[in-house]
Amino acid sequence: MPFTMRGRWRRHASRPAIQRNWGVAMKVIADSTMCEGNLECLLICPEVFAVSEDNQAKVLTDNIPTGLYDKVRLAVQACPRAALRIEE
Ligand code: SF4
Repeated sequence: MPFTMRGRWRRHASRPAIQRNWGVAMKVIADSTMCEGNLECLLICPEVFAVSEDNQAKVLTDNIPTGLYDKVRLAVQACPRAALRIEE
């Protein structure tokens, strides 16, 4: 069976995008020793942050959807205790 450029291109085009490693995932770390539980992060981005009854912020997911990146950055900037940190 002859090998053609067309067949070669098709194989590359059919690879899933996730294998290409084009994007860098965002991860958020909450420092419980710094958090004072004032809910700023929760009010800005409840999809990613929660605050427990003992006033400690929790990050709800390690896989933050790209559509929430701006809200997460805003929440991190708004934290008055600098208890949130982004790793990208
Ligand atoms: S904004 Fe900062 S201090 Fe306030 S609950 Fe969230 S992590 Fe804690």
